[in-house]
Order: sequence, then C-alpha cells, then structure tokens
Amino acid sequence: MSRTVYLNGDYLPEEEAKVSIFDRGFLMADGVYEVTSVLDGKLVDFDGHLARLERSLSELDIEKPAAFDDLLEIHRELVARNNVVEGGVYLQVTRGSAGDRDFVFPDPEVVKPTLVLFTQSKPGLADSPAARTGIKVISIDDIRWGRRDIKTVQLLYPSMGKMMAKAAGVDDAWLVEDGHVTEGTSNNAYIVTGGKIVTRDLSHDILHGITRAAVLRFAREAQMEVEERAFTIAEAQGADEAFITSASTFVMPVVEVDGVKVGSGAPGPVAVRLREIYIEESRKSAI
Ligand code: PMP
Repeated sequence: MSRTVYLNGDYLPEEEAKVSIFDRGFLMADGVYEVTSVLDGKLVDFDGHLARLERSLSELDIEKPAAFDDLLEIHRELVARNNVVEGGVYLQVTRGSAGDRDFVFPDPEVVKPTLVLFTQSKPGLADSPAARTGIKVISIDDIRWGRRDIKTVQLLYPSMGKMMAKAAGVDDAWLVEDGHVTEGTSNNAYIVTGGKIVTRDLSHDILHGITRAAVLRFAREAQMEVEERAFTIAEAQGADEAFITSASTFVMPVVEVDGVKVGSGAPGPVAVRLREIYIEESRKSAI
C-alpha cells in the first residue's frame, strides 16, 4: 500500500510527491536530515533530533522550514496516517530550488527550503534478531569531509562503506582516520575495556549521536564508567565488548572486527544491558 508522505505543506500519496530537478538537495547534496525512531507509535528523543536539526541548518545557513510544534505535528500525523507502530520518521530539509544550477546559494528571501518527511515501518525493531547474535564489522579508511557533525545528505561514502562490508560478508564498517576509529557508517562506535565504556569524544570528526547522548547518560546513571576518547582497531579487537548506537539500531552489539572475535564472540553484558535500559527508557519518554 502506498504511504502518505509530506512535502512542503501537503500530505500526499508517495507517488504524487515530486521535487524539482533543480533542487539543491538533488544537484549538490545541499541538505540535512534526521531520523527519529518510533516505538509503540510514539517518537523517541524527538527534542534531541529537533535540536540537532536546528544546529545542522544554522551551520549551513539554511532557513528553518517550520516551527518545532509544526514539525512535531507533522511527525505525529504521518505516524498516525501510516499506522507506524515500530519504525522511524525520515525528515529532510534542502536549500530548495532556484530553478537552475548555480554554486552560489540562492537568496533565502526568494528561494524557500524544501521540506520532506516520510515514514518507514519496521515491525520487530525493538526485538531485533541481530541484537541477539551481534553484528560483524570491517574497518575502512574514513575519507569523508571535515564537518561530520553536520547531518548532511552527503551519504555516498557511508553507502559505499556498507557495500564494502557486504562484499566482505559482514554487516557494517567502522571508519578509521589517523589510526583511530571515528564512528560507524551510520552509527557511533564503542568498546568496553578495562571496565570502562570507551567512545570517541565529540568534535567535528563525528556525528553527535542523539542515541549516544542518551546511552552515555543511562550508563553513568547505572554507575558504569565512561571514557570519551579515540580508540584503535587493535584495541577494539582486544576489548571485552564492542557495540554501536543509532536511532534505528538503538544499542547493537558488535562481535567481530576485521575477522577477529571481540571478547567471547557473543553480545557482551554491558551492550545487552544498555540496550534493555535504552529501549525501556525510550518507551517511557517517547511522545
Ligand atoms: N554517526 C553517523 C555517521 C550517523 O549517520 C548516525 C545516524 N544517522 C549516527 C552516528 C548515530 O546518530 P543517532 O544516534 O542520532 O541516530
């Protein structure tokens, strides 16, 4: 059945939602996005995703396309119209279409941003079989641009990274720069070693994951020790556990890195516990 999607003020059947060929999102990847997960038909960490959206837009001087309350209303309307119980809402804002191709930004008084939202229904998201076995990753060079803290739609290299993982018979790739892991193709990366949860510190080098912020808060509340610093692939391979976080995978154990088992080769207790806490707390606070 066709989804109802949202485009610049209208709710439309997906086949009828059309964007100009001159849209800068299409021509220049000049746009940003957010993915908010849905549990029990409610939005998880919506405030966090909206705050990051506002930051991404302001870093790129793209006008905010709608007020917070309107965006919340659109998210809720789409979840309801598409009967999403578990899954996510994808939101994208581009700098819009000036009706031609030009490197120079169009005048924001004249050209308004394009706002698109659609839902993805994923029954079984919380009770994912992958979370029971854990996933395997390879490492690849991080050759992305220098502002990974801005959530742009320039996803070609992450997409190529997923294909490299697939070709290697594994699930995902961790990106490595100057000998240290930055993050996963579409997630933040962690190890558990020396009794501490270690994950890269925030900077322009990584996306400031909304799930990361929540998981680190829950870990500290549960008296787990957290160390925000870079780590190497060798350190990950010798760690007791590894895992990733993102809005669409929550906390997902990583059991193999570049063909080497991490710990026992099964999901570790810290990752399993953090996944439970994250899902439980998210269900409670979802709106
Ligand atoms: N890093 C990258 C590169 C990502 O694409 C994502 C997910 N979009 C994340 C981290 C995780 O962020 P979040 O927890 O906000 O989904």
